[in-house]
Amino acid sequence: MYEVRVETHLEAAHQLPGCDCCGGIHGHSYKVTILCRARHLNDRGMVVDGDKVLEKLKRFDHKFLNDLPEFKEQMPTAENLARVICELEPTAWKVELWETNWLCISYTRETEAEYRHPPKI
Ligand SMILES: [Zn+2]
Repeated sequence: MYEVRVETHLEAAHQLPGCDCCGGIHGHSYKVTILCRARHLNDRGMVVDGDKVLEKLKRFDHKFLNDLPEFKEQMPTAENLARVICELEPTAWKVELWETNWLCISYTRETEAEYRHPPKI
């Protein structure tokens, strides 16, 4: 298994109505780590092109997150942002998102199948 770690920063603003600490419009300097995995390398001998991962994240940089389509139906919390970022890159299995220097949220993609026995009648 190969793994690539892509690290970057995003500057973005958000507003979380009803939240004591994030209820007003304010910004964060997010530190983002995206962990990508592949059992086999692509035809260029890579897990993923890191530049293309960074390119996908530009849609969030210097933006008001509440205005983006991803956050029309859900609050732009760090938890939701971490999941949305993970879902943008098919090889990503985990995203760590530092919202402040003391608060880090991580999202791990569910990859295991689950089987449940049918109920007994
Ligand atoms: Zn905030």
